[in-house]
Parts: sequence; C-alpha cells; structure tokens
Amino acid sequence: AAPISILIASGLSAKRGILFKEGRSIERLHQVDRIVLDKTGTLTEGKPSIRAIESPGHPETYVLRLAAALEKKSGHPIALAIAAEAAKRRLLVPDADETKESPGHGVTGIVEGRWAAVGSSGWLRKLGIAVPERADRGKEEEGSVLHVALDGRWIASIAWTDRLRSESEKAVRELSAYGELWMLTGDEEEAAKRIAAEAGISRYRARMLPENKLEVVRNLQAEGRTVAMIGDGANDAAALAAADVGMVMDSGTAAAIEAGDVVLLKGELTKAAQAITISRLTMRNIR
Ligand code: ADP
Ligand code: MG
Repeated sequence: AAPISILIASGLSAKRGILFKEGRSIERLHQVDRIVLDKTGTLTEGKPSIRAIESPGHPETYVLRLAAALEKKSGHPIALAIAAEAAKRRLLVPDADETKESPGHGVTGIVEGRWAAVGSSGWLRKLGIAVPERADRGKEEEGSVLHVALDGRWIASIAWTDRLRSESEKAVRELSAYGELWMLTGDEEEAAKRIAAEAGISRYRARMLPENKLEVVRNLQAEGRTVAMIGDGANDAAALAAADVGMVMDSGTAAAIEAGDVVLLKGELTKAAQAITISRLTMRNIR
C-alpha cells in the first residue's frame, strides 16, 4: 500500500494541477537527473501561425485548401494552424480520403481524386518528391517550413512560427536545478537552434523521429541516468512511455496523455519542476 505521505503528496499536486496517475511516479521522480523536453507544443505554445505561403504554380488558397483537407483529422499543432488560416480566409475545405498521418513527418491522402501530402522536407524527399533546396531556406530564420506535394510533385512551402511559452525560460531555469536538460524536436536545425537558445537550453537535437527520441531516452538510461521526458505529441509517446517518468501537457494528443505518468494541467511547464520538488520533499519525509 502507498504510504500516507504519497497520498498526501498526490492530493497536494492535484490541487496545483499536477496529476500523478500512480503514486509510484512520485517515488521515481525524486531520482530524476536528466530531463528531456520536446519543442513544439511543450516549450512552445503549440499554437503556431502561418506566416507565408510560397506556391509558384498555384493560388495560395488552393494550397491551403489541400493542406487543410489532409490535416482535418490530425491533432498536431500544425494542423490546427492550417485549419485556422483556412477559416480566416473563409475557405471551404473538402474531405480527404485515405489520409495517413505519420508522426513526426506529416500527412498523405487523396483530395478530390488526387494524391497529396503535407509535411517536412526530409520526409517528402524520402517519399521521392523533389523539394527545392531554395524553398527550405531563407524562411527558417524566424520559424519553420513545411511543404505541400500534389501528384508526386512539390507545389508549395508554408512558413509557420510558434512562440515560446511565456513561462518556458523560468521552467527551464527551475528544471536545470534537477539535472541536465535536452531538447529534442522533429523540426529542422535552424528552428531547433533558435527555440533552444530562446528557452536557455544548450543541448538540443533536431530532425528527431519518434524512434530517435526513444533512443535518446534509452541511451541516457543505459548510462545509469534516471530520465524524465516532457512532451505533448504522438511523436513523443514512445519516449514518454520509456522514460522513468513521462510528463505530458494536458493539451497533448491522446496517445501522449495515455503514455505519460504525470499530466500537467493548463499546459504549464513550470508545473514539471514543481512536480519534482514535491516528490523530493515527499521522499525526504518518508526516509
Ligand atoms: P516536435 O518534435 O517539435 O513536436 P514533430 O515531430 O511533431 O515536432 O514534427 C516535426 C516536423 O514534422 C514538423 O516541423 C513538420 O514539418 C512535420 N509534421 C509533423 N506532423 C505534421 C502534420 N500533421 N502536418 C504537417 N507537417 C507535420
Ligand atoms: Mg510536440
């Protein structure tokens, strides 16, 4: 049975918007010495906005309709941004068929009888689509870029940005007291570098697929570290499950919330540090 202090700690945490699924996580959390964070939706607000669309052969609105159709069923922050932009421009978005979302990559499907895809340049290239180098660059300074393909050809790039959460710097400072921090993102190098610098994190890795995030967690554990992973997306689910303690933003996708041990309400990242503090105080009292 859980000692009474664990019950008290979990009640206290719940009042502060930190939900422990099991008392055991409170015990494990006090030993954490490595903290791995996702970027989009975790350090950033996860409410990106579309900055620019470059589509040499098609009207912007056509590209946006395609992307919005593909993203209709996705819960990814990018999908929400695209839907919001389509709504802002009062576009009628058709339903796509056979849509398949590939976590950390993008979405493919059939829109009005034609094969279409929206996602990262690296992934589209792997699908055999020639994404122009030029379309990838230049826009990255202020944000990230994703691409749209139609019938196997690149047709457009969509530049988007997502702001750092207002409390991310503070949360990073507090979390640093408990161990080395790593930021892992599926996004490109430039965007990763910028957000890591803004948040005050010196160690980061870009272009991380879900399995790469998992690998980083496993490697740290193999070095004898106790790892907390903080994330929000389907692309974080494997790493969240493998971590000694997985912490998820309540704004996260169902797969991530399922995989995590601790849910941080109102998407407040500073709650992650509070959770560790509570666990340390609790465990000190028990022993
Ligand atoms: P992060 O690790 O920062 O949370 P993701 O792994 O979710 O980011 O996404 C990495 C990249 O993959 C995005 O920057 C985007 O280019 C692409 N991507 C992922 N999901 C989608 C989607 N639903 N629609 C379009 N692009 C996507
Ligand atoms: Mg994310």
